[in-house]
Amino acid sequence: MKLILLGPPGAGKGTQAKMLTEQFFIPQISTGDILRAAVKDGTAMGLKAKEFMDAGGLVPDEVVVGIVRDRLQEKDCINGFILDGFPRTVPQADALQASLAEMGKELDRVISLDVDAEALVERLTGRRTCKECGRGYHVTFDPSSVVGKCDACGGALFQRDDDQEETIRKRLQVYADQTSPLINYYRDAGVLLELDGMQPISQVQEKMLSLLQAS
Ligand code: ADP
Ligand code: ADP
Ligand code: ZN
Repeated sequence: MKLILLGPPGAGKGTQAKMLTEQFFIPQISTGDILRAAVKDGTAMGLKAKEFMDAGGLVPDEVVVGIVRDRLQEKDCINGFILDGFPRTVPQADALQASLAEMGKELDRVISLDVDAEALVERLTGRRTCKECGRGYHVTFDPSSVVGKCDACGGALFQRDDDQEETIRKRLQVYADQTSPLINYYRDAGVLLELDGMQPISQVQEKMLSLLQAS
């Protein structure tokens, strides 16, 4: 299954992608995670990307397009993948289409998660992430059993630099301007599934699985 999870920052893409990887044994490809790893490693690409990320803007298309093109060639993508946080612009979507066509592949589905702006701010300000394994939590909606510690690996939980209210508002505006046109883009392509993301995590998960099974 070749899938895109589309939605604003905080919609639950990462949370649901993790569940889908376990369900379908296909990898989650998160450009945000890949970029944050490059920042942590201090690579040239990471240093350049950091400025855009800290400001709540988008990293230039050619950088992320290159990352995804390489990643899709890896062996673990043979049976499919879940793209989380990519594409975020129409040129990225066009480039993805071209890369897949070169490989003789086609997208199966794009799931669009819809969540109100105020709920997004609440989700993002309360988001915590494991330093070791990257698992996401929420202080209220999905807390770890021990405060500040990952249930899966015991790693320390941290708050992302860009999950501060001012940067969050900027990211939501960037989503509205540059990413939301992709909803119509994929609707026109006949691959869009729309899902109400305002329900609790487990209910979104159930609905997502039944939508995928029905389609
Ligand atoms: P969120 O989970 O909140 O939606 P991500 O982890 O996907 O955030 O992305 C964090 C940041 O990384 C973005 O604000 C942006 O600066 C950069 N980024 C991630 N994916 C892309 C992309 N496809 N195009 C451009 N920038 C990206
Ligand atoms: P995205 O990858 O789309 O930016 P995440 O999956 O990281 O979003 O979720 C953002 C925050 O909201 C996390 O703290 C997560 O635990 C929480 N969250 C995700 N889905 C829901 C939901 N359905 N209801 C409440 N909180 C949620
Ligand atoms: Zn962990």
